[in-house]
Amino acid sequence: MFNVKRDVPTPESLKSAGKNYNNPDVLEALNKIFHSKCYICEIKEPTSIAVEHFNADNPNRTDWENLYFACTRCNSNLKGNRYNNLLDPADPETDVFRLVHHRAPSTPNTEITISKATDTPDSKEISETLELINLAFNDASTGNRSVSRSFLRKKVFKVLAKVSREIEKWCDEDTPRHKKKEAEQQIIHFLRVDQEFSAFIRWLILDDLELQPVFGHYIED
Ligand SMILES: [Zn+2]
Repeated sequence: MFNVKRDVPTPESLKSAGKNYNNPDVLEALNKIFHSKCYICEIKEPTSIAVEHFNADNPNRTDWENLYFACTRCNSNLKGNRYNNLLDPADPETDVFRLVHHRAPSTPNTEITISKATDTPDSKEISETLELINLAFNDASTGNRSVSRSFLRKKVFKVLAKVSREIEKWCDEDTPRHKKKEAEQQIIHFLRVDQEFSAFIRWLILDDLELQPVFGHYIED
């Protein structure tokens, strides 16, 4: 999960009485704020997207602040109306990225570990958030979930493998200085919040005793 800044004004379609939240201006604004990523699984530019009602029980469920960008798989197949107490990535007071630990998979079909970060206190919000993100990456209770889980894990692994190759170059004492500099810039680029699966990449750096002091401060948003 990544932190979100809701820094665009309420779209015009939500100001009229009908509040049509599926109008293009709403989708385009959400796409921008969420960097084209599902806020639950962080897949980038999913071909099937949904305007998510963050709290489905909210009487003002179509208000701008309750609308989030999600892939259809997370929105309809996994979350539905069942998780209405998630950590809020758009709450400026909540650093959702640092509260939820994402462990990168070592192979394309490894179980993915989503857990509380070391200092994260227990709460209803953290429990629900962990459960839902775990569902996104690990649930195989139906044929659809099992196959789509496999697709998703392969995408995560592919991104992480790309990052690992740059880390390997940066760490290797045989890498020429200019190549090492290039690898450093590439790693900094991968730490941007708009990267696909950014939470996995960022935790990869934070969990490493040598990489964290060098690159940790590039994790900003
Ligand atoms: Zn998703």
